[in-house]
Amino acid sequence: MSNASPYQLLIVDDEPGVRESTAMLLTAKGYLVRTAEHGLDALLQIKKQKPDLIISDLNMPQMSGFELLSIVRRRFPEIPVVAVSGAYDFSGHVPSGVIADAFYAKGQHHPSDLLRTVAHLIENKGIQQSNPKRAFAPVWIPRNGTDAGGVPFVVVTCTDCLRSFPMNVAYEGNQEIQETTCLSCDTRLQYIIDFTLALPAAKAHAAALGAV
Ligand SMILES: [Zn+2]
Repeated sequence: MSNASPYQLLIVDDEPGVRESTAMLLTAKGYLVRTAEHGLDALLQIKKQKPDLIISDLNMPQMSGFELLSIVRRRFPEIPVVAVSGAYDFSGHVPSGVIADAFYAKGQHHPSDLLRTVAHLIENKGIQQSNPKRAFAPVWIPRNGTDAGGVPFVVVTCTDCLRSFPMNVAYEGNQEIQETTCLSCDTRLQYIIDFTLALPAAKAHAAALGAV
């Protein structure tokens, strides 16, 4: 890597310890590092200035990493993304439909793996973009709860205009890819409801703290 023009990275993680240690690791390697606490924060920063690469945790409150990465892939397909998962979140495999160029499992992979992955993705940016499979990205949305009438609802963020709107879900437990239309711009949106957020992810996070 050349020190002449440092590459900009955006690290997205809700755990301050993980965020800071990952930022230190990559700053030491000469990258210019910015951080975001959650998906919405990350989107604002990406709109202000596009990073060369994004490293995002998958389990975060407000906007999950699944949702963030889906939006990034639709809006900014040129930016490579590394998805970070807690070591025990998915028992070794990541759910289908997750859009990322690489995965990093806290506690399973060594930080040097992350450095290698980042360097490789940045070197191969042009090649990655020409892969047509990158275009397809259903939005993963966290289950938000129930409304006043007890009907479960989710908040969908449009991949095109980035506006969010609530939507009732008739059946809980459906993990198929579903479709809806953005209330603001009529874009057809594909989505999957992210039930992993119902898991005790906090425990896995605590166990993984300091692992990166
Ligand atoms: Zn829209």
